[in-house]
Amino acid sequence: RAVEESLPGFQSMGLSAPLLRALKKVRYHTPSPIQAELIPEALEGRDVIGQAKTGTGKTAAFGIPLIEMLEARGKGPQGIILAPTRELVQQIVAELQTLADGQDVVICGIYGGEPIDKQLRALQRGVDLIVGTPGRVLDHIERRTLYLGDIYHVVLDEADRMLDIGFRPDIERILRKVPNPHQTLLLSATISPDIRKLAQRYMFEPVELNLSRDEPSVDSIKQYYVTVEHERKFDLLVHLLQRDRPRQCIVFTRTKRGAERLADRLRGRIPGVATIHGDLAQTVRNRVMLGFRNGTIPVLVATDVVGRGIDVNDISHVINFDVPDDAENYVHRIGRTGRMGKDGLAYMFVCPDQGEPLTAIENLINKTIPTLPLDGFEAYR
Ligand code: ADP
Ligand code: MG
Repeated sequence: RAVEESLPGFQSMGLSAPLLRALKKVRYHTPSPIQAELIPEALEGRDVIGQAKTGTGKTAAFGIPLIEMLEARGKGPQGIILAPTRELVQQIVAELQTLADGQDVVICGIYGGEPIDKQLRALQRGVDLIVGTPGRVLDHIERRTLYLGDIYHVVLDEADRMLDIGFRPDIERILRKVPNPHQTLLLSATISPDIRKLAQRYMFEPVELNLSRDEPSVDSIKQYYVTVEHERKFDLLVHLLQRDRPRQCIVFTRTKRGAERLADRLRGRIPGVATIHGDLAQTVRNRVMLGFRNGTIPVLVATDVVGRGIDVNDISHVINFDVPDDAENYVHRIGRTGRMGKDGLAYMFVCPDQGEPLTAIENLINKTIPTLPLDGFEAYR
């Protein structure tokens, strides 16, 4: 509490009256630590690498200064925010619209799985900020339906993911179209020293904020693991879901097919199960996200497509049915719960031969994860 009170308030940041009104309306009374540090630097026009734990308000940390720095609408957008998934893009658009409430700011989401004409018409009407997935943004650049010559602000949300080998070529092609000089803001809960070094190449004398270096995972999330035979994982999951009756839960699997199969098996045993992964049509993905957000779907079986950035109110449980592919993904997956000081539970199923990934995770989060007491369930047979 003392710490909170010593932070500069939004009022002392010199923000405009409409923005302060929007913050009041959305009940952001006090800036979170990353917001308190990042907003003033960004308003100064500096490049920033912002590392802060999951669920600590990184979206508004870049969104507030971005909206505040917008100038009169020109030919093309002034800012571009890139994020790894369509659902995250949709969520960022919604948050920016909330922050821009009462102002004439046009924000456009650009992502695959939706007819390109709809986005095209939106672009033609004139926009201030683009939020997009790299693939669809490149599509528009190639069709010459997106003009980046007025861009001054570039944001990479989930920056370490955006700069990893899967996305980096796309990001570089997009950045080549952005005129210099421009301002770059990078955000993530996990930014390894390697990515940090790489990021410098895209930035000018960046300010480095590091609010989660030693312990990237959130304290208010209670973490446990269970050593369990592969064949017993399904029964263990049913046992835990029946025992805990989670208010809202994400069960992570390693593959899309794994998610599909697990959801099918669960449906007969547990009410309100749905699945989301990258092979589903966008209309289905949208419907599932809506149901998960409004609570009609309490159990979501998912791949890492919702592992990063997704902010759904009151997720009580994250269950790693399959161990994540890398330790960073573990931090992001469990970070779907325990947001903004709330608490949460994270369970991970570890097969007897998976000691190595478990150790890698413990090394990254700098904590030992205790085993989950199982009250009678036999994890081995
Ligand atoms: P991150 O990107 O760090 O994981 P988000 O930007 O998704 O976190 O924000 C997490 C949650 O906190 C969201 O529900 C958001 O609306 C809320 N939030 C952000 N800033 C504030 C604030 N200053 N006060 C209260 N709630 C906030
Ligand atoms: Mg985020």
